[in-house]
Amino acid sequence: MDFSFSSEELAFASEARSWLEKNLPTAWRKEHMWTRADDPLWVEIARDWQRLLYEGGWAAISWPRELGGRGATVVERWLFEQELDRAGAPRPIASSGAVDLIGTAILRHGTEKQKQRFLKPLLSGEELWCQGFSEPGAGSDLASLRTRAERDGDVFVVNGQKVWTSHADIADWCFLLCRTEFDQPRHRGLSLLLVDMRTPGISVRPLRQMTGEAEFCEVFFSDVRVPADLLVGRPGSGWEIAMGILAHERGPVWTFTFQRKIRRSLRHALGIARRRAMLGDSLTRQQLAQAWMEVKLLELMGYRSLTRLKKTGQPGAESSLEKVLGSETDQRLQEVTMRLLDALGLGSAPGWEEPWQRTTHDYLYARSETIMGGTSEIQRNLIAQRILGLPRGS
Ligand SMILES: Cc1cc2nc3c(=O)[nH]c(=O)nc-3n(C[C@H](O)[C@H](O)[C@H](O)COP(=O)(O)OP(=O)(O)OC[C@H]3O[C@@H](n4cnc5c(N)ncnc54)[C@H](O)[C@@H]3O)c2cc1C
Repeated sequence: MDFSFSSEELAFASEARSWLEKNLPTAWRKEHMWTRADDPLWVEIARDWQRLLYEGGWAAISWPRELGGRGATVVERWLFEQELDRAGAPRPIASSGAVDLIGTAILRHGTEKQKQRFLKPLLSGEELWCQGFSEPGAGSDLASLRTRAERDGDVFVVNGQKVWTSHADIADWCFLLCRTEFDQPRHRGLSLLLVDMRTPGISVRPLRQMTGEAEFCEVFFSDVRVPADLLVGRPGSGWEIAMGILAHERGPVWTFTFQRKIRRSLRHALGIARRRAMLGDSLTRQQLAQAWMEVKLLELMGYRSLTRLKKTGQPGAESSLEKVLGSETDQRLQEVTMRLLDALGLGSAPGWEEPWQRTTHDYLYARSETIMGGTSEIQRNLIAQRILGLPRGS
């Protein structure tokens, strides 16, 4: 494990800091913008911020320069995330999620035409994406999904339903995992299609969650005609591509962006303890010290992931450790913060105007973190099999 940064890496961090100082509008430096999901003002700011990042060459710094990146190393990417955190930058609209997930998949498996068509509008925030994987009855057991895409000349005809599709209501495109090979074993019958969300036959129904937001949606496909050249990779390679996408979602995306959220949660808890004059209370001190240790532990795991990513280019099975530890640490932190607020927290509706409303929001939202991107139970199964070498459970 390497904890030291080279002079080039430190110069890179300093360049990023100066750029952020000059370009990040003061009005956007509000930490609460991190979580806001379905507010038109947030969407507008996040989209403008994405465009600014793109114009400055900061939207996908690890990508090659000719594709809008700056060829940065994983360490530089990490340092950039630290600078975003320090500057209090909001979450960009395409967020590292879409860029790291479908962007990386198109970079690796897409045709030249797909790269030319999709990468620039993805980075600049002109086009928003959603991830069409989960279905009713196919979440953890993703390979059992039933949405079908049948070939009809030069198009695929898609029928089926997706669920929990984050931001499908504002997305322009969907990367859709569907069944195209009907005579193959279930994992080998899947393909990844890029679907224009304005195609006739698609309907989207937002689902309200317990925070009051409607972050995700149900999406219905009825005889949706998708040009066959929008298939990524070869027919039947969808499972392999989807596993690469999910490994990024649990690994680098988690390391780079989720740690910012957890550090923010810790700052928020400390701020509330200070405001409520509870810093001298022994239980509060114990819990905050424990939370700080867990946040530090996550940071060290992040360094380990970076070292591995630098050496192998792959997140590896250990990304499941970060996913479990990160999501469960955040849940514990939210519970501590709720305890600090006492009746104020329990009595307030989730929102952003007052610190206690935000605590209620973050406490409720954190419940989803051990589910999204693969549940804690599934991650523990993966750790048992791939790291401990235990046999598959029944
Ligand atoms: C905030 C949020 C955003 C999301 N965004 C998206 C999105 O944009 N696109 C998308 O495609 N999906 C999205 N999802 C869906 C997410 O990927 C699924 O919820 C997740 O994979 C779990 O699937 P499920 O909900 O069907 O639960 P199930 O798979 O039905 O699991 C139910 C319970 O059973 C347990 N379980 C299941 N199988 C096993 C097993 N083999 N061993 C032990 N326990 C098991 C699970 O851990 C869980 O506790 C999102 C989810 C959340 C919460």
